[in-house]
Amino acid sequence: MPGRRLSQLKRIGVSELRRVGPKRAAGLSSLEIATVYDLLTHYPRRVVDRTNQQEIGALAEGEEAVVTAEVVRSSSRRLRNGKSLAEIVVADGTGTLVCTFFNQPWRARQFGEGQRVTVFGKTSYYRGRRQMANPLVDLVGDQTGRLVPIYPQSAKAAVTSVQLANYVEEALERAGEFDDPVPEAFLARLDLIDRTGAFRGRHQPETKEEWHKARERLVFDELLRLQLLLVSRRRATAEAAKGISHTASGRLLEQFRANLPFELTAAQQRAIAEIRADLEAPHPMNRLLQGDVGAGKTVVALAALLVGVEGGYQGAFMVPTEVLAEQHHLSAGRLLAGLSLPDASRLGGERPLGVALLTNKTPAAERARILAELKSGALDVVVGTHALIAEGVEFARLGVVVVDEQHRFGVEQRAVLGEKAEADPDLLVMTATPIPRTAAMTVYGDLDHTTLDELPAGRAEITTRWLPGDQREKAAWKKVAEEVRAGHQAYVVCPLIGGGLGSGEAGDAPEDPDDYEEEPEEEGSLALLPARPEAEERPARGAVEELARLSSGPLSGLRLALLHGQMAAKEKEGVMATFRRGEIDVLVATTVVEVGVDVANATVMVIEDADRFGIAQLHQLRGRVGRSSLPSWCFLLSAAEVTEQAARRLQAIEKTRDGFLLAEEDLDLRGGGTVLGARQKGRSDLKLANLRLDRELVAMARRVAEEIVADDPELGGEYDGLREEVSALVSEEEAAFLFRS
Ligand code: ADP
Ligand code: MG
Repeated sequence: MPGRRLSQLKRIGVSELRRVGPKRAAGLSSLEIATVYDLLTHYPRRVVDRTNQQEIGALAEGEEAVVTAEVVRSSSRRLRNGKSLAEIVVADGTGTLVCTFFNQPWRARQFGEGQRVTVFGKTSYYRGRRQMANPLVDLVGDQTGRLVPIYPQSAKAAVTSVQLANYVEEALERAGEFDDPVPEAFLARLDLIDRTGAFRGRHQPETKEEWHKARERLVFDELLRLQLLLVSRRRATAEAAKGISHTASGRLLEQFRANLPFELTAAQQRAIAEIRADLEAPHPMNRLLQGDVGAGKTVVALAALLVGVEGGYQGAFMVPTEVLAEQHHLSAGRLLAGLSLPDASRLGGERPLGVALLTNKTPAAERARILAELKSGALDVVVGTHALIAEGVEFARLGVVVVDEQHRFGVEQRAVLGEKAEADPDLLVMTATPIPRTAAMTVYGDLDHTTLDELPAGRAEITTRWLPGDQREKAAWKKVAEEVRAGHQAYVVCPLIGGGLGSGEAGDAPEDPDDYEEEPEEEGSLALLPARPEAEERPARGAVEELARLSSGPLSGLRLALLHGQMAAKEKEGVMATFRRGEIDVLVATTVVEVGVDVANATVMVIEDADRFGIAQLHQLRGRVGRSSLPSWCFLLSAAEVTEQAARRLQAIEKTRDGFLLAEEDLDLRGGGTVLGARQKGRSDLKLANLRLDRELVAMARRVAEEIVADDPELGGEYDGLREEVSALVSEEEAAFLFRS
């Protein structure tokens, strides 16, 4: 008989189980368990070793333990706040223990006096009594295994961990053997156990070893499904017939290179060669360009656009904000100045390269001119915001698109661009800061990757100092004044705009780093994580108030100016231009200066309330200085006391300037959940996998997926089970989500 497929179990409702009646089915559905597949992938959070028992008399405050004891009495009563409190008192001859349950009145009736039970929980002392709040209570003999699985449960669902274990037991028994979609040769080579063993080993382990091996296999399967989808998709896009084979002699690229005021780094040359090969090939390019802050991604992006332009196509450079669009337009103008193209209308003639800026703030007349030139083909390169993919924007021959920084360029946008061109344009996506390798494989798994792993030579040091407390920040202002005296400039970044202008930067509000998901519990560990010590609240500083405070205090006499996202576009541009010309000494800003702002003369970055920013953001902000051979400083100001997580972030930034290291550190601190955003929770097929714990397995799944797709892109024959599983379990909705943001 063929084994069970997961897709079959997804079609069987939980109420088909004998032990699940209508009421329980409703409870389960509030845990988002509707089918047998949902039930079997509602994995225990951990297992408790019930042989690791203690006597009640020996229980210490705050410690988790298992005890076996006899029920002395049980009761339930209403509290003044309307909640109910059930208590079961147990004793074992060495002492008594009170088990308390809020809003579970039925608990009082669950066990009778004299019954022997096993209790698992964390001990606390309350009014001189030893007690456990919401412990796991089992009748002795209910469960035979030495290891008891502890399931995630919720009071609302009124389904206990023991009940879940019972339902799972029935489901596993009646499901029988599982079909294993991964060919045996792979399993043997990768040292993975079979699927039947994996489900049993995760729900009903005999040993810790089994429990770990089971997890490994189940995580591998989740990741393999995702990678198969991504790798197949990448291959499908690559084979789409509608791409452009760019033909460029390389003359324009040579002009560009000769015009640059510096030599390209070896990494930049390598990246340009890779991109050029992609552009010349008939399939559309889908490439991610990663590199640390200041690695020189813009130059590489411009080179890509020029290859397209020389072959007679147009290039679009899309960035997320107006400030950044303006910035890129300026640097593109500078770096592309003097380049010319053969002019077909005049024999042997030349015309200058046409570059324009298009955002929602572009004045109507200029906009009309730009649109007309894009349509006629008179413009070669356009830099802009999302306005570029707006309706009414038509290109004569769009050939290469560069998407900068935090955009996730989705299927939809790609389709919109496709409609603006006769063939699929080549696409280059750039990240603002490096992302961890496992995240890159997962979130950007449908793209080819190029990494700039080298900074231009001659960059000076950035000295980074965390200065907690109001006293120590004086050192920062002193350095700012010193540097300004030496003819250099500085930034002061605040998390808020202030001045009654709302709580943050519209559209790019500072992320709340302490809103991170709780650390996942360590595998099989009995210890709970220590609670985060709460730091004293201190209101965040606003840029408007800081400007006033600094100009009349620590920075009086210097030329200060304000920059934030709610200023009118003209005003913002004006301030940036003045700053670039060196007519402003200190720019007091919000995170609008986070990405792309490029003023080589700026040598000090002061970040206020630095504990409120995430690692990537701090690294990106620091990257605004140290952009030349001038030695630079970055000061991280904060309250005297910050949370432990914040302290670790600030120490990490202080310790290294290597964005790749910081990206890994960030993953360690935040856990994988936040990298993937909401998609690791809820509907996602990734129920056990964790990008932080499972780095190796992500890489392994990626390799196997590449191998399988190369072997048989259709996933037929022996891969048939995998194909079915990918389409049944990794939903289109989820896939779309992945490609959106
Ligand atoms: P990022 O990778 O952070 O986007 P940019 O492209 O903004 O970096 O480049 C940072 C600065 O370094 C810019 O001023 C740019 O002109 C300069 N730059 C780029 N490549 C080189 C190079 N090979 N040598 C020296 N300076 C370079
Ligand atoms: Mg940049």
